[in-house]
Amino acid sequence: MSGYVKVVGLGPGAPDLVTPEVQRALDDATDIVGYGPYVERVPRRSGVRTHVSDNRQERQRAQLALALAAAGSRVVVVSSGDPGVFAMASVVFEVMDEHPQWQRVAVQVLPGVTAMLAAAARVGAPLGHDFCVINLSDNLKPWSLVERRVVAAVDTDMALALYNPRSTARPEGFRRVLELLQRRCEPARWVVLARAVYTPQESVRSLPLCQVSADMVDMRTLVIVGSSRTKRVGPFVYTPRQVTTA
Ligand code: SAH
Repeated sequence: MSGYVKVVGLGPGAPDLVTPEVQRALDDATDIVGYGPYVERVPRRSGVRTHVSDNRQERQRAQLALALAAAGSRVVVVSSGDPGVFAMASVVFEVMDEHPQWQRVAVQVLPGVTAMLAAAARVGAPLGHDFCVINLSDNLKPWSLVERRVVAAVDTDMALALYNPRSTARPEGFRRVLELLQRRCEPARWVVLARAVYTPQESVRSLPLCQVSADMVDMRTLVIVGSSRTKRVGPFVYTPRQVTTA
């Protein structure tokens, strides 16, 4: 059997940020599996089957990929950004964990440029010192844990990258995190709102925490909250590397 599953990251949007390794995997695939908008980012090639599914059908997608590979197909599962960051790689391993018959399928994870790195690069280097990454979706964890993690990051003065900040199904979460941040941090703390970076709809702005409102973000936005030391130089926002106080 020559079948396999490669779980790949397509980067934030632009073809330039698809790695050569991921491109080769796409070129060699017999089957491409993924959420519709991500599969659409892969140029059509004759002889390749595409298997498009809804955003919520992650487990079925992983099961399909493993079953196709077990039957001999060269399967590529596509995620945006990096497949290990709030994306399909963990789902594939969860399904393997539950289905011993698939534990011998050859699986490989190919990294991609995750949204926070693309967003950070657009403004300078806000993640240039210690930082923390939190998914604001509470679909898979209690909301109280999200808040505890945000507080822990702020209390140890780390910068924060916030994924999945706000959806129509979860309009309140980001507002609550914003209120929490506005209570605990100084009003001039730098915040970066990076929407749809590396796509034609890109918009990126940096502003002080006191000027941020919840309606400025949506599901296509990656939010970076600076540490207390994050600052501006010319048009850039960056976090210096040295910290002298504990
Ligand atoms: N695996 C992806 C993240 C998936 S979670 C990655 O590594 O980037 C989806 C969230 O990622 C979105 O809600 C948004 O917060 C962020 N995101 C993905 N692509 C983005 C882009 N081009 N610009 C800004 N944020 C993006």
